[in-house]
Amino acid sequence: MVNYFTGIEITGKQVRFRIADEDIKQQDTYKITMPKDMSPSQLLELLETGFYSLLNKADVQSDDVNAIAVSVPATINYKKGGIGCSSAIPLLNGMNIKEGLTKKLKKFVIVETEANVRAFAEYKLGYTSNYKNFILIMLGQKISAGIYVNGWLVRNKDGSTSELGHIIIEPHGRKCLCSNRGCLESYASSDAIIRYFNKYKKIRSPNKITIEEMYKLAQKSDSAALDAFYRMGNYLGIALTTIINVISPEAIIFAGEVSKALKFFLPAVESTLKARAYSLPLNGIVYKRSTLGDDAGLIGLLHLAKDSYTKAYDLRLYDDIFAI
Ligand SMILES: [Zn+2]
Repeated sequence: MVNYFTGIEITGKQVRFRIADEDIKQQDTYKITMPKDMSPSQLLELLETGFYSLLNKADVQSDDVNAIAVSVPATINYKKGGIGCSSAIPLLNGMNIKEGLTKKLKKFVIVETEANVRAFAEYKLGYTSNYKNFILIMLGQKISAGIYVNGWLVRNKDGSTSELGHIIIEPHGRKCLCSNRGCLESYASSDAIIRYFNKYKKIRSPNKITIEEMYKLAQKSDSAALDAFYRMGNYLGIALTTIINVISPEAIIFAGEVSKALKFFLPAVESTLKARAYSLPLNGIVYKRSTLGDDAGLIGLLHLAKDSYTKAYDLRLYDDIFAI
């Protein structure tokens, strides 16, 4: 009998399902566009329907699936099992996907934040398999992070460790969706970069330029695009100063759509860090873009499902790690 593992990646735009055998080699994928208005119970039904459609496509029996790992762009209360909050998908607020799916599918279910899953994928398969202390930063419309300390994926009791995007860098700054002011996300997200570009070009009406288009302009030395990425890099450097001074990582890995422009914003990050961070923890940090691509989340989920089910990797809570 072949044992199978499943990953479900929930994003604001779509839900992607992937199944793989126990070697995580043979894989099949199924995806559903996320409907605009849904209730939490409708989302659970969508996850159930998608799971069975995936099995149908892959010609796998439900009994042969051992475990399911689900990623969400949200904080997770690991002790209570539910989702804390999600500014990306408000319908997830307070939902308990683990409990709901376990009841419906009668499987071992694990739910994890998307940044932690990406960090886990890096630890298993990426550059950082050589590092025990690193940070993976997701840069897009949202900013979040997955953190490894001494080989442990940091999971605070309330799942709040990935909220890098809500570090305050301007105390009286712009209002953030989280209702606070001056969060990093308001100054270094894709929306912020596009805002800098429009301001430089004196474009008042909303400009629908994308990060991909800005990246191409920057490659042609467009001064507005270069300036926008540089400004974003300065703000990111301010936030990373705090993280580096506290955690002293060996490597910082950038993922998400904005990470493609790393060569345009990294000089600003490094010069800000050089001016502001303590030199001892700053010395020798490796900065890289993740090479695992768009599928990193799904591949990370498959490994997470397998490793949690077989207990190959002990996912502990942060306070348990340091309670030894
Ligand atoms: Zn915020």
